[in-house]
Amino acid sequence: MTIGVLALQGDFDAHRRRLEELGAKVVLIKKPEQFDEIDGLVIPGGESGTFLKLLGEEGFEKLKQFVRVKPTFGTCAGAILLATEVENPKQAGLGAIDISIRRNAYGRQIDSSIREGQLLQSSLNAKPDSPLEMVFIRAPKIERIGKDVEIIATEGEDTVAVKQGRAMAATFHPELSEDTRVHQAFLALIENHRE
Ligand code: GLN
Repeated sequence: MTIGVLALQGDFDAHRRRLEELGAKVVLIKKPEQFDEIDGLVIPGGESGTFLKLLGEEGFEKLKQFVRVKPTFGTCAGAILLATEVENPKQAGLGAIDISIRRNAYGRQIDSSIREGQLLQSSLNAKPDSPLEMVFIRAPKIERIGKDVEIIATEGEDTVAVKQGRAMAATFHPELSEDTRVHQAFLALIENHRE
C-alpha cells in the first residue's frame, strides 16, 4: 500500500520514517494531483492556519474530496483540519470527523508536554485501556464529539484521539513516541477500506 504524507509544512518527516518502519511505501505529497497515487493520507502537525493558506481554496476542495473517499489520519494541526468546527480562532474544517476542536487549548505555560494517556479498546483493536505515551505540542482540545465518532484514546478527562468512518485524528504526536500502535491502527484502517 502507498501512503501519502502531506508535506507542505510541519513535521511530515517523522511520519514518513514511522510508516516506512512499519513497511509502508510512502510518498511526500506537495500537490493535490498526487492524491490519485495513494491509498491513504497523513496530515501532520504544524500550523493549521498555514496549511489552509498553502493549500488555497482549490487544494482545500481537493483535500475535502479525498478525505470523503480515502482513509486519512490527522495529528494535531492535521486533526484540526479534519474537524467539522474549529475555534480560537474560527477557521474552515474539512468536516471529515464530527468534532469541535479548540486550537492551542492548553495555554502558554504548558504548551508542550509528554503525558501518559490510555489507548482504548476500539474497532482498531488495541488492548483495553492500555497506557500510551503522548507528546502534546501547542495541542488543540476536542470540545464536542458527534454521536457517530468513536473515541480511540483519552488523557485524563480529555478525548485525544477519535475515528469516524475513514478518518482518524489525534491531538498529540504519535510519530514522536517509540510506540507504533497508533500508526499500526491507521494501516489497519487502510487495509479495511481497500476496494
Ligand atoms: N497550534 C497548532 C495549530 O493550531 C497545532 C500545533 C501542532 O500541530 N503541533 O494549528
